Amino acid sequence: MKLAARAARVVPSPTLAITALAKSMAAQGVDVIDFASGEPDFDTPQPVKEAAQAAIDAGFTKYTPSSGIDDLRGAIVDKLRAEQGLSYERTQVLVSCGAKHSLYNLFEALIEAGDEVIIPTPFWVSYQDQVLLNDGTPVWLKTREEDGYAIDRQQLETLVTPRTKAIVVNTPCNPTGATYDRRTLDVIAEVACRHDLLIISDEIYEKIIYDGVRHLSIASLSPEVAARTVVINGVSKSFAMTGWRIGYAAGPKDLLTAMANIQSQSTSNPCSISQKAAVAALKMGVRFVTEMVTEFERRRRVMVERLNKMPGVHCRMPTGAFYAFPNLAGVLGARADDTALRTPSEVAQYLLKTAQIAVVPGEPFGSQDHIRLSYATGLDAITRGMDRMETALR
Ligand code: PLP
Repeated sequence: MKLAARAARVVPSPTLAITALAKSMAAQGVDVIDFASGEPDFDTPQPVKEAAQAAIDAGFTKYTPSSGIDDLRGAIVDKLRAEQGLSYERTQVLVSCGAKHSLYNLFEALIEAGDEVIIPTPFWVSYQDQVLLNDGTPVWLKTREEDGYAIDRQQLETLVTPRTKAIVVNTPCNPTGATYDRRTLDVIAEVACRHDLLIISDEIYEKIIYDGVRHLSIASLSPEVAARTVVINGVSKSFAMTGWRIGYAAGPKDLLTAMANIQSQSTSNPCSISQKAAVAALKMGVRFVTEMVTEFERRRRVMVERLNKMPGVHCRMPTGAFYAFPNLAGVLGARADDTALRTPSEVAQYLLKTAQIAVVPGEPFGSQDHIRLSYATGLDAITRGMDRMETALR
């Protein structure tokens, strides 16, 4: 059968593929340590589970309005006002099946063939594939580890063409763990306003920040910036709810209406039970996330310190999200046993085979030098995994 050309432009999510491989090795009895998954190892909080159970018991198990139930859209409006100082009407908020789905709706509503979207590298893999799936062209804005992955105004400016539609901002960033400061956000906002670009602000890791960093939404810089920004967020990471599939977008009314129309013709509403659970999550206060972040903070230090003691490895201290993104430039080019370690992918395969640790290679994130390790896993597993990795690299 002749498939659509766009189907050939994308590859399956490499993070999900490696996670699945690690899980299947574990199911066969191999003692694999999984540093690949992009999800908190914490259980979903009890009040969230109770709200879901109550929804089931009350028979809240049918179709809902396709853009999301009123309570949840209201809770999102309240959250954005209280935490980011942003004002939206409920009709400017669309609830979808995870933030990934919010982004997909957005690219589908926004992009025509050949339209360009600027994506700072290293980047979360799905931005690229979703742009490609919608016949757009991803344009890479290279950032440097030495600069803390900050964005350079001149470099950004040179990438803007008459076809540029949008720029992606992901702070805290997956995979680098970097967070943007006010100056970087000002640069992006200023260029976007001058060239009439949409800002896609993916804030899914907003609450997972360290070292006194404060999350600032680019949309909150000014009403002019808010009018050209779509905020993307969800409950997956902040409330350990990756499987519940609730994300949301908030932004300009015409764009959000188009996204809502697309969703109404594709998935219809997100799961009714999960929506009730998400309302409970958003009303839960900060205790759960604070405890989770305190624990991530301990693990982050242990993992990064251990990585920096390994030969040929250098790792920046991330200030957000739950990933270490070590640079392996000092390892690449070496041989171990009979294996050439020329690329991050070859190192990742070597580590899985010889040390039974699953990590994600940098290539799909746009890096030829790094691998990504999640520290959203127990301290004991981190210590054992770092021992194995060190032995394998020595
Ligand atoms: N954005 C980033 C940067 C992510 O890392 C992820 C998940 O890994 C998502 C969005 C999607 O989150 P979800 O679809 O689970 O809400």
